[in-house]
Amino acid sequence: AQSQIGLIGLGTMGGMLALNIAEKGFDIAVFNRTTSVTKTFHENAGELASKITPCESLEELVKSIAKPRAIILMVPAGEPVDQQIEALRAYLDADDLIIDAGNANFHDTERRAAEAAKAGPRFLGIGVSGGEEGARHGPAIMGGGEQQDWDRVAPILNAIAAKFDGTPCAGFMGKGGSGHFVKAVHNGIEYADMQMIAETYGVMRDGMGLDSQACGEIFAKWDEGALKSYLIEISGKVARATDPESGKPMLDIILDRAGQKGTGRWTVIEAQHLAAPVPVIEAAVMARNLSSRLVARQQGEEMFGAAPEALPEGALSADDLENALIAGKILCYAQGFELLRSANAPFDWDLPLPDIALVWRDGCIIRSAMLDDMASALSESPDRNLMYAPYFADLLKTHHSALRKVVSIAAAHGLAVPALSMALSYFDTMRTARGTANMIQGQRDFFGAHGFERTDREGGDFHGPWAM
Ligand code: NDP
Repeated sequence: AQSQIGLIGLGTMGGMLALNIAEKGFDIAVFNRTTSVTKTFHENAGELASKITPCESLEELVKSIAKPRAIILMVPAGEPVDQQIEALRAYLDADDLIIDAGNANFHDTERRAAEAAKAGPRFLGIGVSGGEEGARHGPAIMGGGEQQDWDRVAPILNAIAAKFDGTPCAGFMGKGGSGHFVKAVHNGIEYADMQMIAETYGVMRDGMGLDSQACGEIFAKWDEGALKSYLIEISGKVARATDPESGKPMLDIILDRAGQKGTGRWTVIEAQHLAAPVPVIEAAVMARNLSSRLVARQQGEEMFGAAPEALPEGALSADDLENALIAGKILCYAQGFELLRSANAPFDWDLPLPDIALVWRDGCIIRSAMLDDMASALSESPDRNLMYAPYFADLLKTHHSALRKVVSIAAAHGLAVPALSMALSYFDTMRTARGTANMIQGQRDFFGAHGFERTDREGGDFHGPWAM
């Protein structure tokens, strides 16, 4: 019998996704550029091997799949995806479907969708989150393209996706590159979540003098409260792990230079294009960039002296940090959802914000208990910034003072907390009805005659008496 779906690229993600698909009862044909990888993969598939058809050429792969065909690409984003689409064109019919499940830049997905609409085969771009483990046992899936194409493969995607209370964490986001856009914003939020957690770790380590084990225990405790999430859980595990070679805590021997593959940066660049404020995500990307300036930081410490000072006894508690992180997280997600909303008009999308929160509840890296509440708040009033939704506004009213306390005490003692600081600045800006841009407008009109609006009259092109 022919397979119900095909998959190209048996790397970390592709291999796991193929096993997941086979395990859910679907027959799958697989192909990998390096044939030995395909063979080894099939040999190691155990009892799932009977559901998997290993293929040594693209032609063989295409022939193994029932029409109309659906083929998942799980190869590195960029050029390899275009190469594979081009190579497949020779064998596929116009109503066959190529599904790019890698971390494509959504602009590329927009282009590929437009090309597919003209010349076929059909094209779907899906963002898949959850890493290797997620791919194997249930990722979160964000799809973009034509609804009919999503519907065609939805039974397979729903089956392999993570489930939250039985509901698949898979959803159709809209046309073209919308699925990959939502995945990029997910990754931007992921950067910000991780950075804020790292900042609380820094305050505990350098300000409160806690060792890694103690930090890990505090994270583990937070994982039982409002912050319950995958990232808090693994932070606790990372902090409590011991290096088998040196016997020291893992965190003490890991170099403080963060890697990145670019999705956080894409989010920030796109946010700038859309004039959408995402300061917490920007701070997180900035912090990763600065972390790589290792030598410069060492020189800085020699020149200016190490910044972090121990905090006075009792200045901050773990509860203060927990509450600050709750406030920071709400503000960061509020920004992320506002970014999603701001993409609708320019890209002619109608991104389903409540569904996005539902999809993110499980399977993906930012999965957390709070996303369920966010989904409820966004469905109640989809047009409102999350920070003003009653449930989250109440939490912010309770916890913003902890955020202020942590940021101000950290600043007073030289502990860098850029993402938490940005969350606080965003909060303060967003509750200040009369800000300071009147000065900016005065300056702009002074040097460039750009004009301004007045508080006491309608109309927009007033000028000041600067020449006088
Ligand atoms: P890997 O490097 O593990 O695997 C890459 C796969 O693509 C290999 O099978 C490789 O084949 C194949 N490949 C590479 N270049 C080409 C090419 N030019 N033509 C055909 N095949 C090619 O990558 P991952 O599985 O980690 O990532 C795949 C995609 O998934 C990426 O877009 C990534 O960003 C995304 N992703 C990754 C996540 C992760 O946690 N790793 C999470 C979510 C998304 P060969 O064996 O011949 O080298």
